[in-house]
Amino acid sequence: MLTESEAAVARAVLTHGPLSRSALSARLRLSPPSLTRLTRPLVDAGILVELDEDGDGSVGRPSRPLDISPAAGTFVGVKLTGDHLYLVATDIRAAVRGRSDRPLAASTPGAVVDAITASVADLEPSDVRGLGVSLGGHVAAGVAVDAPFLGWRDVSLADQLAARLGIPVTLENDVVALAEAERWFGVGRDLPGFAIVTVGAGVGFGLVVDGRTVRTPDAGAGTVGHLPLVPSGPSCPEGHRGCAAALLTTTAISARVSQAHGRRVGYDEAVSLARDGDPAARKVMDAAGDALGNLCALAANLTLQSDIVLAGEGVEAFELVRDRVERSLARGRERSASTVSIHPDRSGFSAWARGAAAVAIQAAMGRISLDG
Ligand SMILES: [Zn+2]
Repeated sequence: MLTESEAAVARAVLTHGPLSRSALSARLRLSPPSLTRLTRPLVDAGILVELDEDGDGSVGRPSRPLDISPAAGTFVGVKLTGDHLYLVATDIRAAVRGRSDRPLAASTPGAVVDAITASVADLEPSDVRGLGVSLGGHVAAGVAVDAPFLGWRDVSLADQLAARLGIPVTLENDVVALAEAERWFGVGRDLPGFAIVTVGAGVGFGLVVDGRTVRTPDAGAGTVGHLPLVPSGPSCPEGHRGCAAALLTTTAISARVSQAHGRRVGYDEAVSLARDGDPAARKVMDAAGDALGNLCALAANLTLQSDIVLAGEGVEAFELVRDRVERSLARGRERSASTVSIHPDRSGFSAWARGAAAVAIQAAMGRISLDG
């Protein structure tokens, strides 16, 4: 295994590279000789590579930037819902190189292992170094302790998949995995802490404080999904007035626009109607924007973080009502409190599977050793 310092160098090059030696020294607060001592074995082992110097004619070894080896392999991320799986293949920086999805024939663990195995085979990724799976629910040490969408309790999915595929497999809660992807490869790279709010089929919440993702058992419990946001708002299926699920989910938005139009309107159509200025759809989206601003204010107020990453398939609609979100967020803040920045992750639904891949990458970085 790498020493802690060597691992820090490898990780800095992975998440911020390619980096010149001087930029790397400054980032890790290391003297040039210490950096040389730490990078030499990583370069010798083929983990890091030295790139050609920038083409300005100046020559000299110290200016050659360091990058992670292009032979670092492929990673696969899978997001499981109750009836579907979504898969991406990524490089070691979690950049998506291929994707596929398929309905689950059944949600038993055996059927899910079969479906993931078949999807990986279909995509034919080369040189897979790790697979990550994420799902809604409580996950611990590769075991889905409680996954209500799948009806699972204590399913050792990571072990079952690793035995079938013959590669290392990680399992993580979906919002935690998304937070990890943002922390290493997204806007979180340069933020010590942030809250993450996901909007889509559900409303999710995650938290990174002092560079660490909060992973208590409640991190997967969906504690924010029914948080009250608008006292006089519509009701969710569980009867709460104005909760997050009643205002922000794709199902709620589609149901409310359908009701106004007297016909079934899907979520995508509801968003495009709002974009085209349809008054009923616009009203629903405006209410969602106000509620989302309230949720962001609550998140910032209670976590003492002033950066909020917004992710999930509902982010695209957020752009339509960004003004309202920001106005309602500002109304919910103390005047003396710092201004909250919202960072939308525009990768939509694929952010979920990419999050699972990011966790597989983190695990692979933890397995690196200098003797191959
Ligand atoms: Zn509710």
